[in-house]
Amino acid sequence: MYSDVLIIGAGGAGLTAALHAREEGVSVRVLTKEYPTRSQTCMAQGGINAALGNNGEDTTESHIENTLKSAHGMANEDAVRHLCESAPSAVRWLDSIGVCFSRTKDAKIAQRSLGGASSPRACYAQDYTGLKILHTLYDQCLAKEIEILNEKFLLEILKNDDRVCGASVLNIRTGEVEVYEAKSVILATGGYSRIYDKYSTNSTASTGDGIATALRAGAKLKDMAFVQFHPTGLKKSSILISESARGAGGYLVNTKNERFIDELLPRDRVARAIDEQIKNGQNVFLDIRHLGEEFIDEELPQERKLAKLYENVDPVHDLIPIKPVAHYTMGGIEVDVKSSTCIDGLYAVGECANHQVHGANRLGGNSLLELIVFGKQAGMNAAEFARENDTLTLELQVSEIQNTQEVEVDFYKIKEEIGELFYKNVGIVRTEKELAHAQVSIKDIQSKLYLMGWTDNEKVYNTNRIEFLEFKNMLDICEQVVTQALEIKQSCGAHYRID
Ligand code: FAD
Repeated sequence: MYSDVLIIGAGGAGLTAALHAREEGVSVRVLTKEYPTRSQTCMAQGGINAALGNNGEDTTESHIENTLKSAHGMANEDAVRHLCESAPSAVRWLDSIGVCFSRTKDAKIAQRSLGGASSPRACYAQDYTGLKILHTLYDQCLAKEIEILNEKFLLEILKNDDRVCGASVLNIRTGEVEVYEAKSVILATGGYSRIYDKYSTNSTASTGDGIATALRAGAKLKDMAFVQFHPTGLKKSSILISESARGAGGYLVNTKNERFIDELLPRDRVARAIDEQIKNGQNVFLDIRHLGEEFIDEELPQERKLAKLYENVDPVHDLIPIKPVAHYTMGGIEVDVKSSTCIDGLYAVGECANHQVHGANRLGGNSLLELIVFGKQAGMNAAEFARENDTLTLELQVSEIQNTQEVEVDFYKIKEEIGELFYKNVGIVRTEKELAHAQVSIKDIQSKLYLMGWTDNEKVYNTNRIEFLEFKNMLDICEQVVTQALEIKQSCGAHYRID
């Protein structure tokens, strides 16, 4: 099965790339392990940054400055400049294809404050921003008749010498391994926050599959140690309460009802302050009661629903119990200014890629922006590559995926244990000793991998097998994260050393 451009992942990055590649006149196919509308992009709530100045003074220079400051010197200034300068046209493009942004009284796109921003800069659609963007992109892909194939799990990137020529996938519905040939491939498979298991705001699909697969194919990874912890995950479930709640004036208070930090500082600093409170025996709460029911129902309706459903509190009347949890992974597949990896014809975009715009700590609202700005360029560049290069022949025997002979160790239990280990030892604050312990533990688990596997031997819809493949990918990612974390001796943004 052949297409000029093959895109793995149907979140905001993958679908944006698909639309722009299609516009270049090449054939495009998108594969996803779930359904496009379930991609994690639909969970984004707070907004997408662009210095439109619709709610007070703002400039692109301030956006650049805030992004660089938040990145702690680890971002590439040219890339950040490109991101921020492209932001107004990216938002205008989304507006033009039908994203229903919330509006001001004079019908301009409404903008609100997020942490680390000098002005209200995040354009939003209530607190359903990602969902509205994703659904609109999907509608557009359907209208442009872009082929999207669901429930296909990426197994390997296929190469002929040093050039990409397609990908192998496991068809989840049939259990068969399939090969998709293409002149260029774009990875848009999202981040890896689920290595923290239940201590993450992310969708269960954020297992870093594309990054682990790219590594196996010979791509380079960058900044893997930088994991952003969001200050306000719900205490019991880790589900996110958006930063827009603090942007609107929400307070953080401890058991003594004392505020202890400026709530709108960048996430790394707020998360550390909360972590310290919790380690000192305090419970920490988000308080938005003073914003009033009318405002909450108009601007933050999802937050109210989530708090009621998952924490059994109503933010209109109650404090919301919270804790910081893994939220966004700055690390990913190293790409150049054209979103190209070191493998000819292989591109990466979105949270799985490292365009060097977030450095050691991402500014809230810049990820959705990255999907749109770099999604466009990845799509166009992959299309250009496909136009300029011949199809390579693929001579390959596709074999069945092998399982362990006898499963003796329950990988689900190990996955939970890794989540606990990483939250404690590779978390908000880090020490050499704890990191080294985590590294030894991961090596030990890797040495016992031959005792793990799937126990359900059904071919059709075997989720047990898929979850094991995800687990193996996560194990590779864990090794990368902890190894790089040990290499960085000084504190830097989300990587905070207390020794
Ligand atoms: P995703 O949306 O995660 O999509 C990945 C795609 O790859 C999916 O279709 C998945 O099925 C597919 N895939 C993965 N593995 C495989 C495989 N093995 N085979 C085949 N397909 C595969 N950012 C902001 O800028 N503003 C916000 O307000 C904001 N709020 C957020 C709120 C929450 C709760 C969360 C979790 C994140 C938030 N973010 C926000 C971050 C932002 O949403 C994500 O970084 C971004 O949506 C990632 O988009 P993506 O397209 O790279 O990946």
